[in-house]
Amino acid sequence: MDTKIQPLPATKHIALVAHDGKKAALRAWCNQHRAVLSQHVLYATGTTGHIIERDTALPVTKLLSGPMGGDQQLGAKIAEHDIHMLIFFWDPLASQPHDPDVKALLRLAAVWNIPVACNEATADMLLSSDLMQCEIDRHLPDYDKYLATRMDK
Ligand code: PGA
Repeated sequence: MDTKIQPLPATKHIALVAHDGKKAALRAWCNQHRAVLSQHVLYATGTTGHIIERDTALPVTKLLSGPMGGDQQLGAKIAEHDIHMLIFFWDPLASQPHDPDVKALLRLAAVWNIPVACNEATADMLLSSDLMQCEIDRHLPDYDKYLATRMDK
């Protein structure tokens, strides 16, 4: 598929998600990076968002709880360009009832080429990047051209 360039804005909409076994780690990480996170707009799945808001006082737009559809809501927001970055502390040692939703979320993050961190070390590197403070170009599927080819069928 052809691609086009679309910028991610300097003020980024960041999605935060943590499986239960990683919620304490994400809460500590948010406190550690509070100064940077406060310059952006935060979204989260329901339980994760409530915990972060309660324990860091950072404002968070809270969606449904992950197993109840929150991961799918985040995926839709990525596809609609409302989410520009994903910090997902997933638990590699626990199985999740909503594993298909988790896969779908990560897939859409790859389709729409947003920065994704699936562990704390990568999240640290993302947040310490100079690119957090400026607009960055990303290559996206050229959906208009894709749709035009599909219409020929
Ligand atoms: P939660 O969902 O924040 O509502 O716990 C996270 C997840 O997708 O597991």
